[in-house]
Amino acid sequence: MSANIIDGKAFAATVREKVAGHVARLKDEHGITPGLAVVLVGEDPASEVYVQAKHRQAVEVGMASFEHKLPADTPEGELFALIDRLNADPAVHGILCQFPVPDHLDERRTVARIDPSKDVDGLSVANAGLLATGGEALVSCTPLGCLMLLRDQLGDLTGKDAVVIGRSNLFGKPMGQLLLRDNCTVTIAHSRTRDLPEVCRRADILIAAVGRAEMVKGDWVKPGATVIDVGITRVPHPEKPGKTKLIGDVAFAEASENAAAITPVPGGVGPMTIACLLANTVTACCRAHGLAEPEGLTA
Ligand code: NAP
Repeated sequence: MSANIIDGKAFAATVREKVAGHVARLKDEHGITPGLAVVLVGEDPASEVYVQAKHRQAVEVGMASFEHKLPADTPEGELFALIDRLNADPAVHGILCQFPVPDHLDERRTVARIDPSKDVDGLSVANAGLLATGGEALVSCTPLGCLMLLRDQLGDLTGKDAVVIGRSNLFGKPMGQLLLRDNCTVTIAHSRTRDLPEVCRRADILIAAVGRAEMVKGDWVKPGATVIDVGITRVPHPEKPGKTKLIGDVAFAEASENAAAITPVPGGVGPMTIACLLANTVTACCRAHGLAEPEGLTA
């Protein structure tokens, strides 16, 4: 069997189109412009690239984008004062603090300072709790993106056996909750899981979010499974000296022999993350104004 390659780049473009449509309607019908504020502390080059991409894509879909770049030695009090101002600003519907932050700052405390109704990264205890208890959460962007890809591929997920490798707060746990909500039978595997290959072979839906290049071998994949590769490892490019390339957690060629559908790295899950950040910002904006939630952009 040769798997269908799930084109996350193309699907993310359709999500952004939907977001742009909702943004236009919010402006035309209600005079509201959804606003996203991104806070970057320090000068980490990779973070600068992400923040730029978020800004560019927010502007492209018609949102207001507010960038706040703070020096690396910004005291916590100053960062929190900025977050407080953004929490109180009615033009700002979503707030994201780009991680990692410098060592003297604490990610948990920073997330906790953001108003949960504006926490478009879905990382707060409040949003994790709402997701776990069936409430109106803002959901972490990468798992939301994976759910959208899965629904697009498979339609109704009811009854599927789903295995998620990785139990981080950022990805594995919210992914498990989302699959449970969609009536999958969910296993969350991790570094202490016994006989991981055998656990994976049970999966109709296999999601790998570990960060170990090509860890998931072809014979771990049940014939006909849908495989979502979240992991990213940067390695030296074999043909281009001085350049790097990205490798996923799944041995793509081998796994494609068994899977019915599979995401590539790059071009699979990655592009969905920012698209879902924009989707969450529209959702937060609609909720803030008591308007109907945007169809197709929420969990
Ligand atoms: P993380 O916090 O480091 O979590 C990694 C998870 O993998 C942990 O739960 C760990 O288990 C598990 N693990 C480690 N070694 C394992 C092994 N040998 N067998 C089974 N499980 C093992 O990472 P994360 O933030 O969830 O991210 C995971 C990967 O996804 C990274 O490569 C990251 O770059 C990528 N990612 C990509 C996107 C995107 O936009 N495409 C977004 C988010 C993350 P323990 O808990 O037992 O230690």
